[in-house]
Amino acid sequence: MGINEVRIIDEFTKLVAIDSPSYKEREMGDYVKKKLQALGMMVIEDAAGERTGGNCGNIYGFMKGDPARRPLLFVAHLDTVEPSRGKTAVIESNGTIRSRGNTVLGADDLTGVAAILEALIVIKEQALPHGPIEVLFTVAEEVYCKGSQVFEFAKVMSEEAYILDLTGPVGTAAYAAPSILSFTATIHGRASHAGFSPQKGIHAIAVAADAISLMPMGRIDEETSMNVGTINGGLGTNIVPDKCVVKGEVRSLSHEKAKRQAELIKKQFERSCSAARASLEFEVFTASKAYEIPLEHPVVTRFENACNKLKLPVSLIKTFGGSDNNIIAQNGIAGIVMANAMSRIHACDEFTTVDEIIRAADLTLMLMTIED
Ligand SMILES: [Zn+2]
Repeated sequence: MGINEVRIIDEFTKLVAIDSPSYKEREMGDYVKKKLQALGMMVIEDAAGERTGGNCGNIYGFMKGDPARRPLLFVAHLDTVEPSRGKTAVIESNGTIRSRGNTVLGADDLTGVAAILEALIVIKEQALPHGPIEVLFTVAEEVYCKGSQVFEFAKVMSEEAYILDLTGPVGTAAYAAPSILSFTATIHGRASHAGFSPQKGIHAIAVAADAISLMPMGRIDEETSMNVGTINGGLGTNIVPDKCVVKGEVRSLSHEKAKRQAELIKKQFERSCSAARASLEFEVFTASKAYEIPLEHPVVTRFENACNKLKLPVSLIKTFGGSDNNIIAQNGIAGIVMANAMSRIHACDEFTTVDEIIRAADLTLMLMTIED
């Protein structure tokens, strides 16, 4: 038993060569569908494409297995962040794989896609015993999980899931992730000529600056952070600005804390606005909701057992990043996010290695075949 090392690296290289930015995963979706169909799996594409303004839906596949075993769901996303058109995987002599430098590599999340496909191929090829296996390849994950948000999890039979979408050495898995609340504060002041009558204006940018300067920024406590990311306002250097739009986010492993923090931010904007007689519009959007899987849950135990069998050191962590697993958790499925051989993600110097890709596929295969 074992994966085919040459084949998986070849597969990863092919996947990288397919353009698949968020909302434009059509070619990747078709490629993956064919692969699953060739394995005799039942394959369904949902309507996520139409529903989110993309050109491809989420791809779900089912492989029948021993019904006495618990069904398992494996998830990876098909889209890659920009710049991503014309990606090429360059394999260096030491086994490091990078892009040409002008795009991301797309190891996020194509190493996950490659690992899942290879594990399924090996199961068929070597007729390995396994339980029912469900796979889900999502679209538009990089834009706040738009694809998984519209997937019908009601038709999933698994109560346990492995999401391949985490940096760190293979053997690392995240069992907790934060709520992410994004906010937009729009401050309305009053325009006036900056030279003739500045006293008649209400300076929206100054109000925003006052509020921001009085807010805690960065790491607020062990499990909570806050950031103002963009600020836009003003029309010209000779006009007192009448409008300023401030956007930011709060994340916390505790959903309650995230909500409380967003409330404090709103209060500060309100105070600064009322002191200057400006008015405020404040909107909060829940981009993802926190979850924490108990460490004694079978989904974690299986992961530990699989790593032990492969002699991989296990590292269970809480992450500060969101993923499809936030959506999966909201749908009552216990999932953990496992490291799948990707480093420096969302940057043009993103890389992976031949050895780590092989380890990620070995671990995926072990999870699919190890007894409950
Ligand atoms: Zn990812």
